[in-house]
Amino acid sequence: MFNVPNSQSTFDLQQALNIDAPSPVHTLITPDYPNIQLDVKRDDLLHSVISGNKWRKLKYALLKASNDNVEHIISFGGGYSNHLHALAFTCHRLGISMTAIVRGDYTNNLTPMLNDISAWGSNIQYVDRKTYQRRENKDYISELIQQYERGIVIPEGGSQSLALSGVSEIVHELQQFYDIIIAPVGSAGTLAGIIDGVSNTNSKVLGIGVLKGQGYLEELVSRFLPNESDNWQINHQYHFAGYAKSTPELVDFCQRFEAQHKITIEPVYSGKMFFAIDDLLSNGFFPSGSRILAIHTGGLQGKRS
Ligand SMILES: *Cc1c(COP(=O)(O)O)cnc(C)c1O
Repeated sequence: MFNVPNSQSTFDLQQALNIDAPSPVHTLITPDYPNIQLDVKRDDLLHSVISGNKWRKLKYALLKASNDNVEHIISFGGGYSNHLHALAFTCHRLGISMTAIVRGDYTNNLTPMLNDISAWGSNIQYVDRKTYQRRENKDYISELIQQYERGIVIPEGGSQSLALSGVSEIVHELQQFYDIIIAPVGSAGTLAGIIDGVSNTNSKVLGIGVLKGQGYLEELVSRFLPNESDNWQINHQYHFAGYAKSTPELVDFCQRFEAQHKITIEPVYSGKMFFAIDDLLSNGFFPSGSRILAIHTGGLQGKRS
């Protein structure tokens, strides 16, 4: 373990953690659609442990925490959370202690994710659904913060306004223009950051909802955005009945995709997004000549069980 000294730049922070940015862009071979360009921004390759879009969302929050001499970070997630996993790893490396508030009780049945974060020194607190639902409640949050000196709370998924500038760097790293940029949507910080990143361009942004959240997800995105914009939408047809729910069809698709493109995906986020893209392509949703960019957000640690 080592500390990143204060007042460091994000460059130093990324270097200290071995973040491999900018992430590469790969073109998928799609013989059935010769007039479509389908590229993938490989944020799954940003780091071997830290899940791609979770780093993007945490980057400036962690820089601020380090400059503010924060000593403890509290955050929230489920038993397989890519966010808690990424945060616990970075906290461990940066010498910040952490509490993970986890929905459900895995005391006798640790997931690989919980095993990792516990090995990295995270304090794990299991809460029931009702308590977990209070994760945005002001009283609950100040109660939590008061238990620690120099503590802060980072919201579920790392999605907050502070996350936008880190995520928008996905767009700023691009070397060419895309008509449409596509990403999965869970807690919405990623989509909001991409929308923020393409403002002042003609790119459109399409989110694929990975949970039943029509209306709700749009509201989350809008809440994070500094300005109203109409260059984005969320498709709700590919959630497969809910968060982390799957079907044999989705599992089969993921296997075929991996065999064809040699890119590992998982069924919770990237699998649903690529399934959606495949289905939308076959329905002629994208005009001929479209240059499409899909964001591979990572999340492969969640695949372990
Ligand atoms: C969390 C996550 C998402 C969803 O991002 P949000 O900002 O929560 O909408 C997408 N992909 C992966 C791999 C994730 O871990």
